[in-house]
Amino acid sequence: MSLPDVLQRIEKACSRASRDPKGVRLVAVTKEHSVAEIQEQVLRYGRFPLGESRIQEALPKMEALSAEWHFIGPLQRNKAKFAVRFELIHSIDSLRLAEAVARKALEQGKVQRVLLELNLGREPQKHGFLEEELLEAIAQIQALEGLRVEGLMTVAPYTDNPETVRPIFAQLSRLADRYGLPERSMGMSGDLEVAVEEGATLVRVGRAIFE
Ligand SMILES: *Cc1c(COP(=O)(O)O)cnc(C)c1O
Repeated sequence: MSLPDVLQRIEKACSRASRDPKGVRLVAVTKEHSVAEIQEQVLRYGRFPLGESRIQEALPKMEALSAEWHFIGPLQRNKAKFAVRFELIHSIDSLRLAEAVARKALEQGKVQRVLLELNLGREPQKHGFLEEELLEAIAQIQALEGLRVEGLMTVAPYTDNPETVRPIFAQLSRLADRYGLPERSMGMSGDLEVAVEEGATLVRVGRAIFE
């Protein structure tokens, strides 16, 4: 597959759901891929946001390529000062992390755009707030100066049949609506159609672009 194939998958899903494809942004997940591969397989097709899941791996690529960088992986508090170099952080999963990022953003005189990660599949090995924690987390994190909460993100449980995770994506959309948050980051190579049909505004795709 290639990036144009992924765009076509997104467009078809939009048309099934009667959505405007402009409402869905493809975040090209570039982890484990070199600057040359990113140029060849992503940037030749346009200026797509680029997603990375490890700070150490991302920093040299960010030096080499000017792009809209998104951080999508688990973030440690002691890396907050690097995280604020990203345009959007998808993976805020605790109040303490939010506080650390807010502090660094304030030091830099910026307002950091963030999403809150939800563990809707309630998988012990996954990161993110549980649904019942969200109300309090949003209130506390929205009160922090230096951050702007723009939406929610989830990584659905792994499955061979994406229909099984449709309820999870529907749930994320419902919660985003309830809290008046515009961005829904959900859907990856295996399940992006279902995510788009359920209201994704950002889909994070790696394998389907590069393999
Ligand atoms: C790697 C990764 C993706 C992309 O997954 P693919 O299956 O390669 O499309 C999306 N989101 C997160 C958080 C990731 O770590």
